[in-house]
Amino acid sequence: MPLSSAVVADLRRVLGPEGLVLSPEGRLTYECDMHTLYKGAPDAVALPTRAEEVQAVVRVCRAAGVPIVPRGSGTGLIGGAMAPQGGVMVGLNRMDQILELDLANRCATVQPGLINLWLTHAVRDRGYFFAPDPSSQMVSSIGGNVATNAGGPHCLKYGITTNHVLGLEMVLSDGELVRLGGKVMDAPGYDLRGVAVGSEGTFGLVTAVTVRLLHAAEAVKTLLASFPSIDAAAEAVSAIIAAGIIPTALEMLDEVMIRAIEEGIHAGYPKGAAAVLLIELDGPEAEVEAQGERTAAICRERGALEVRVARDDAERALLWKGRKEAAGAVGRLAPTYLLQDAVVPRSRLPEIMREMMVIARRHSVLIANVFHAGDGNLHPLICYDDRRPEELERARRANEELLHACIALGGTVTGEHGVGLDKAKNLPLQYADADLNFMYRLRRVFDPHAIMNPGKLLPSHPACGEGFRPARPALPEGAWI
Ligand SMILES: Cc1cc2nc3c(=O)[nH]c(=O)nc-3n(C[C@H](O)[C@H](O)[C@H](O)COP(=O)(O)OP(=O)(O)OC[C@H]3O[C@@H](n4cnc5c(N)ncnc54)[C@H](O)[C@@H]3O)c2cc1C
Repeated sequence: MPLSSAVVADLRRVLGPEGLVLSPEGRLTYECDMHTLYKGAPDAVALPTRAEEVQAVVRVCRAAGVPIVPRGSGTGLIGGAMAPQGGVMVGLNRMDQILELDLANRCATVQPGLINLWLTHAVRDRGYFFAPDPSSQMVSSIGGNVATNAGGPHCLKYGITTNHVLGLEMVLSDGELVRLGGKVMDAPGYDLRGVAVGSEGTFGLVTAVTVRLLHAAEAVKTLLASFPSIDAAAEAVSAIIAAGIIPTALEMLDEVMIRAIEEGIHAGYPKGAAAVLLIELDGPEAEVEAQGERTAAICRERGALEVRVARDDAERALLWKGRKEAAGAVGRLAPTYLLQDAVVPRSRLPEIMREMMVIARRHSVLIANVFHAGDGNLHPLICYDDRRPEELERARRANEELLHACIALGGTVTGEHGVGLDKAKNLPLQYADADLNFMYRLRRVFDPHAIMNPGKLLPSHPACGEGFRPARPALPEGAWI
């Protein structure tokens, strides 16, 4: 339902003409995130520059019962920052300042639209960095990272976003601004910071984040090991960790992905290998040296064809360029792809990779793989041509079968990307009704008016049928939305 002229006038009063996008072509830019299968343009896009403006926008929407969808950089892969029910999208990119650098206490307070990598750029000269490093870190926002509890290649050793968030400032659905957590690790009372991280805009709009900064390590070593089979590479992963070594990153790429990267990026990955491991170690010089040798020896014992150590920063950067731009490189293989994000226990990697090959053959689809092998987080890219509906259908079926296979092996339906619209229907594979109802009740504590990012994260009640439930009708206590 389009916005009433009174709502538009109120929003314009808050934001000024430059802060409100109403034109159809302008709104179309915001119709999806990077999961482009799900589309829904908002009725308006609000672009606030201050928390007070966010509060005022929320109050206007709340009074009119209009849904609100927060958006950072729109790099999400879950159908999160899009508006299936219309309403007002609140783009937070203009709030991109570092509010405070407190190096004495090793933390920084930033606005949500700050690009992840910009924070590290701001503190690198002084020997610090911000650890969460989603491969999208050149463009994704810290607010989006918080809302999705983003992971990344280096999270194996350093942990995911929630391990680096000390405090949050959040605007709730009645316009109230609350502070959760603070600068210290252990704030008194309930850990509301903890439940808010990963809430995907369903609890409120994050308007400031206090994050930990870490000291950069004395030494870094990056190795590339190639293997004749996925099994051999997966066994090397388990053996490295069983030896007590926790690399900062332990990434696996399969043959299809290696080919795409080499054709597009020329990162120096060995063509013809069935799998490569990109392994990074950091820490004190002597420790990194010893662990590097031990890691290389383990790879050779597990049948590595070649183990190469990056000689300098330029070579290391090139190896990482291949990894971080892998998804884009797949554009050489197919016009588009479905990117799955599921997890299996690390020890089950060989089994799931074999199962994946069977699924790919059954549905005649090409699957390229790049994933965080160290924590069992798979990212198969299921290729298809979007001009051919039957190819999309086959890709979809393969995608769902793969997810079920992960669950059967003791895994989870989503790893680091979150739930959004895409995985909401899959949550009952993993959670019982009581678990989901508890989550609904928690959601309503933060958002009693049911206007925050409706339709995302939690599935519709089976009794309500498939598809989206309107956000507003009151439901009996304990009912699902
Ligand atoms: C090439 C590529 C590589 C990627 N690699 C990784 C990876 O390694 N690890 C990983 O975890 N993800 C990865 N992603 C996914 C994505 O980049 C992350 O989920 C990222 O955290 C999203 O940030 P964003 O600013 O783009 O958020 P958006 O896509 O704009 O939003 C994501 C969700 O957060 C909500 N949201 C955004 N900002 C706020 C806010 N201020 N307050 C409340 N809610 C908010 C939105 O409503 C939405 O539900 C990758 C994506 C791409 C395209």
